[in-house]
Amino acid sequence: MAKYDEPLLNEIEKRDDDKIFEVEREKLNIPNLNEREVVKHFIHLSQMNYGVDTGFYPLGSCTMKYNYKLMEKVVKNDKINYVHPLQNEKSVQGCLHIIYELEKMLCSITGMDAFSLQPCAGAHGELTGMLIAKAYFESIGEERKEVIIPDSAHGTNPASAKMAGFEVTEIPSKNGKVDMNALKNAISEKTAAFMLTNPNTLGIFEEEIIDIAEEMKKAGAILYYDGANMNAILGKTNPGIMGFDIVHLNLHKTFATPHGGGGPGAGPVGVKKYLEKFLPVPRVCKKNGDYFFDYNRPYSIGKISNFYGNFSVLLKAYAYILLKGRELEKITERAVLNSNYLMEKLRNAGYEVPFYGRRMHEFVLSLSKLRERGIKAIDVAKRLLDYGFHPPTIYFPLIVEEAFMIEPTEDESKKTLDEFADTMKKILHEDEEILKNSPHNMPVRRVNEVMAVRNAILTWNDLKIH
Ligand SMILES: *Cc1c(COP(=O)(O)O)cnc(C)c1O
Repeated sequence: MAKYDEPLLNEIEKRDDDKIFEVEREKLNIPNLNEREVVKHFIHLSQMNYGVDTGFYPLGSCTMKYNYKLMEKVVKNDKINYVHPLQNEKSVQGCLHIIYELEKMLCSITGMDAFSLQPCAGAHGELTGMLIAKAYFESIGEERKEVIIPDSAHGTNPASAKMAGFEVTEIPSKNGKVDMNALKNAISEKTAAFMLTNPNTLGIFEEEIIDIAEEMKKAGAILYYDGANMNAILGKTNPGIMGFDIVHLNLHKTFATPHGGGGPGAGPVGVKKYLEKFLPVPRVCKKNGDYFFDYNRPYSIGKISNFYGNFSVLLKAYAYILLKGRELEKITERAVLNSNYLMEKLRNAGYEVPFYGRRMHEFVLSLSKLRERGIKAIDVAKRLLDYGFHPPTIYFPLIVEEAFMIEPTEDESKKTLDEFADTMKKILHEDEEILKNSPHNMPVRRVNEVMAVRNAILTWNDLKIH
């Protein structure tokens, strides 16, 4: 990674004769630099950046996997780029065909009966799913206000349930899995849904899932599947088989769209037949061989996106699934193998794996023992930067102390995993002071994260340039 002492644009020294480059329209509050300086500045910044294309990015739960450039080529097609969302249905039959077919593909991947591709993020999918649950109970005249969520859940789960107007009941885990007794005690006639991800955020498969589904059915409640990390089970099993009623996926994790940088994404929602009529409008339907947008759905929760979501993300997923076909399950095999291989190496190197056992696509270490030496998870994370690795997710899930959540993804080579494991082993034996003051070799040293959150300067305009 390059390292420059790069000033902000407004700090770059201007020359008097740069005036010839100034934009004459009006006095704009921007640093009027010549193009040469500006290009150099942004290229320097890009060279100091880190991304999936430059190195290992094992951010647990986030699935920062490599995405084929072929998919970018597919969406850069002019036939797609110049389609306008207000175009007549008759003139966009190809796009509607792709939406229609992708919905079917996702149904067979997840075991659901119907899908809406509109939601634009995982959290957006969760909110859509919760609104569907709410509409369902309203339609059958039952007042159910509670959603149960395990303490290992992704933070978006309780937030989405709350946004949809539910009260959240959190239940504790037992040995890193759902505690059946705690679940049974939490269930009542007020329970609307149980939100669960399987494998859970520790990368552990919930083996009692059939019993869990049975409990929910008995209580007349909905079982919601957070399928953000579908690369853990693709083609091996699915939420439909497990007994789930509603599912969301993150196409921007598993299905070929890069994740991060704020989007665009897609969080499609799938449901079992009895919930189909509540899906958002419009739905893409087919009549006499023609596709059309169907708005005539009296039970629908309504519109949740402008137009039809992020079409380019949908198209990439469609192309990716066609490309992989039956091989989709190989993705899962590699993701799970990589994760278990790396977990064993790190365990042998001296790292602690709470609730030790086989994992799915990710695993979580606890670095709490390093506290005796005054070292925290964040110190090890920062030190990894010095060795050219992006750190894993830290301090999540909340049920593991000094959590270090690693998701190697299916795309990494054995060589990369070995290098990462060797580096982690080396770090374990490094001097405390080196770790606490890391990173040492980065363009930016340890940042003050509290100050950055409290005093967020997000555009150069906030810097009050004169
Ligand atoms: C990423 C993730 C989400 C949220 O997805 P966004 O697209 O970031 O809103 C939800 N649940 C799990 C388990 C995730 O990993």
